[in-house]
Amino acid sequence: MQTRVHSPTLRALRRLAAALRRGELVALPTETVYGLAANALDARACRKIFTAKRRPINDPLIVHVGNLRAGEALAEFNDVARALVRAFWPGPLTLVLPKKRIVPAIVTSGQKTVALRSPAHPLTRKILRLARVPLAAPSANPFGYVSPTTAAHVLDGLKGRIPHVLDGGACRVGVESTIVDASVPGKWRILRPGSISGRAIAAALRTENVRARGVKSTERAAPVVAPGMLAHHYSPHTPLVLQRRIRSRQADERTALLYWAKPSGPAGRNVFWLSASGSAPAAARSLYSLLRKVDRGGFSQIVCETAPAAAGELGLAINDRLVRAAGRRKKTKR
Ligand code: AMP
Ligand code: MG
Repeated sequence: MQTRVHSPTLRALRRLAAALRRGELVALPTETVYGLAANALDARACRKIFTAKRRPINDPLIVHVGNLRAGEALAEFNDVARALVRAFWPGPLTLVLPKKRIVPAIVTSGQKTVALRSPAHPLTRKILRLARVPLAAPSANPFGYVSPTTAAHVLDGLKGRIPHVLDGGACRVGVESTIVDASVPGKWRILRPGSISGRAIAAALRTENVRARGVKSTERAAPVVAPGMLAHHYSPHTPLVLQRRIRSRQADERTALLYWAKPSGPAGRNVFWLSASGSAPAAARSLYSLLRKVDRGGFSQIVCETAPAAAGELGLAINDRLVRAAGRRKKTKR
């Protein structure tokens, strides 16, 4: 299959929307990472996502919608969900809610809940308006590898496996959306940390006078993990080791050193940093690009600093990804 890269002209957007309506896959930029989109109401089209990514079918997809109304056609919204929509949509917040029958089982891996988000990226929004269907879209990369934040990253992993990529430049946020399970009225729980923090969510609910409690996973009988949130994910091929602080420059130039902020001292071909000033948003933006670049650099090992406490909840989201990226590949099937 030939993969065509499209510049975002109105003509191209119309073509891509028509392709989506016909059941074809299109890789699209969003504010978080690039997504591999299909018509969420077309089970056959959604199945192609799993094939192209080699993604296990027990890992459900996030469905992208233009607004609350489009979301309400797919899921049951409660007060908590509506308040969070008012506060954070469009934006990098995904809500897990009871699904309506119209959502095909392949999208939710047979579960009774569906994950919904309204992206803020103007090109994704335009495509959603033109296509007039909800779009199921996981990250546009082979399953388990580092997520893509540019069209070139999408090609690196999926060239020849998908027909279309829309090139909208680099993604603004750089890490995947915050996922909140809001399916139980009055209770909410973060399933995946992202750039929208638990603190911001709690504050938005207070402002809206919605009575709801954030549930810590320790309060539950068994730890609940979002399906697909594997211990090993987002991973470079080169072995990755995490350190709180890289203490000394290793003499071995075959080890890539990824500092949180630009280190003092001489640069070396094995020295990199997530952001010059140590800003968490900048580090999130460069995280996946840098991991990909270093992964191609011929190093035998990558040593990466984790985000410090001062990086706040976005730092926790970055560390969540880093821990999974460093996680050991499981040999047994789940
Ligand atoms: P991504 O691959 O970044 O699009 O993320 C999709 C992730 O959303 C999955 O791996 C799950 O962790 C989560 N997810 C999707 N649907 C559900 C659901 N119904 N319940 C809980 N988590 C979900
Ligand atoms: Mg993914």
